[in-house]
Amino acid sequence: MGRKDVENYLFNQLTMVMRKKIAAANWKMNLNWNEAKELITQVLDQNPTIPSLHQVIIAVPFPYLDMASHLIAEHPGFAIAAQNCYHKSSGAYTGEVSATMLASMGIRYCLVGHSERREYQQETPAQLSDKLQLCFSQAITPVFCCGEPLTIRESGDPCDYVRNQLSESLLSLTPEQIAQLIIAYEPIWAIGTGKTASAAQAQEMHLAIRNYLTSTYGSVIADAIPILYGGSVKGNNADAIFTNPDIDGGLVGGASLNAVEFSAIIKALPQ
Ligand code: PEP
Repeated sequence: MGRKDVENYLFNQLTMVMRKKIAAANWKMNLNWNEAKELITQVLDQNPTIPSLHQVIIAVPFPYLDMASHLIAEHPGFAIAAQNCYHKSSGAYTGEVSATMLASMGIRYCLVGHSERREYQQETPAQLSDKLQLCFSQAITPVFCCGEPLTIRESGDPCDYVRNQLSESLLSLTPEQIAQLIIAYEPIWAIGTGKTASAAQAQEMHLAIRNYLTSTYGSVIADAIPILYGGSVKGNNADAIFTNPDIDGGLVGGASLNAVEFSAIIKALPQ
């Protein structure tokens, strides 16, 4: 082994060890102000300490970002995320919220490309690519969502579909940016339906994503990227999903609206 190989080996080991395990909540368009406050308070009460390798991220509606950020401020291991940002940096785009605005409020995470936005807002791969760039320009870590519809799962090549989603939107990112990314694999047929991908189906796709990242960016970067599973994760199935080697936690919709359920998911993160 030459010196460079040893350095690469050590760096590899370090990043492997450091890959965070993440429980991310996606509240979507739910809860009023008081309910939102109450839910965060309950989750904090039920999780007074978070192991240093774990991260809890709560993606709340825009109007709650500031309140939620204040509530978690003294709680290491918790962070607040936006559910979206606009694909332009500023200007005459009534009703939109920019990455710059989020960063100016101290927000450090943002979901990008959730399937509901791809479907209902017709977000395109090019727009998602611009959002990723804008997030990185503001030191916001994007949680990039991908996942296949039922038709592809039943009669197509789901791994190929997801690889295409990644290559279409990640193409313009530098390796340094890619290394900061979080990816959430969410099969559309499993979101909010109660149908979960089996642990084997989820691991197969996560491995395909990791292999794609390895072949495109190298193993050091691929091993550093947390890949989350999303799609009807609950307190009673999180354990089976999270124990797979390429699954680094979950992006959780429905179950994140209940403090007991979400806390069970947080506690199921591998130690
Ligand atoms: C989601 O919206 O990202 C999600 C995974 O939802 P659910 O957990 O309700 O399937």
